[in-house]
Amino acid sequence: MRIVSTWSFGLRANESAWPHVAAGRALDAVEAACAYADAAPDIDSVGFGGLPDASGRVSLDGCVMLSPGQCGSVAGLRTHLHPVTVARRVMERTPHVMLVGADADAFADREGLVQAELLSDEARAAYEKWRREGGVVDQSRDGPSRTLGFDPLRPVDRRHGDDGRLFGGATTPPPLPADEARWRHHDTIGCLALDARGTLAGGCSTSGTPFKVPGRVGDSPIIGHGLYVDPEVGAATATGTGELIMGLCGAFLVVESMRRGATPAEAVREAVTRMARTYTLQAHHQAAFLALGRDGTFAAAALRPGYRTSVRDADGARAVEPDFVALADPVG
Ligand code: ASP
Repeated sequence: MRIVSTWSFGLRANESAWPHVAAGRALDAVEAACAYADAAPDIDSVGFGGLPDASGRVSLDGCVMLSPGQCGSVAGLRTHLHPVTVARRVMERTPHVMLVGADADAFADREGLVQAELLSDEARAAYEKWRREGGVVDQSRDGPSRTLGFDPLRPVDRRHGDDGRLFGGATTPPPLPADEARWRHHDTIGCLALDARGTLAGGCSTSGTPFKVPGRVGDSPIIGHGLYVDPEVGAATATGTGELIMGLCGAFLVVESMRRGATPAEAVREAVTRMARTYTLQAHHQAAFLALGRDGTFAAAALRPGYRTSVRDADGARAVEPDFVALADPVG
């Protein structure tokens, strides 16, 4: 019985989901964890607070998966806050896997899901600053670095409230370690749960890369790229530069390695090693894979330092370092 999520902010998301894990509701658990991250304004690459695209509008992507026959996905939501909830409705109430754009929002409306404002004041201010500074959109995998127009590595304050359960009664969690804070715009929540009944489930939610070309969809909502679950083998999720993950079918690659006998640690290591070898990497590129085996063992590997996994199980809550990091810190 265990729930693991990408990045340190996943600690709070895991905690909100833990009662579902303990009650044998893995699907509810991953939906709850992702919904927590969506609603937290300080988590600024997921849900409310997510940075907008190059047109100044936020769009959200997400998916959910129990098995190859039970998965759902949405991309490009602009009026609904919880992509995993909408994706679950796609999975449970349509014959399809994926809905996109305005029609996905319309589907959510028909399902009775409440619309929400997605652009926070802080995200709007960040967008306006980016525009003032002549920001350039860059989602390239290869080639020379171009000016981003904003500093994706800039550590910033993370102010937010918290119920205090995780942080000794303090109302705010401790500041993120500086090495993780510099990747704060690359923090999709990918969440994998193995519940008390032995059911595996995964969910993934993101606002994508900041200031992306409108219409851009990354790995996160694509089954097999940002998330894959095979109940007989295990589950994997990804975070980071989607364009790097998509070229490798990242999450599927990890689960297939486990199917061939690799441990979760071996599988994620192989995936980031392949990533490092495949692309001409740029300083702002970061990615990580997180895997959870059918037996509950888990592992993560990151392209660069600064990634952590949030874990909640019978031993409590903790953030753990990845098992493998492929490259040295580009910033020094
Ligand atoms: N993987 C997400 C995407 O490419 C973004 C991220 O994790 O930073 O859309």
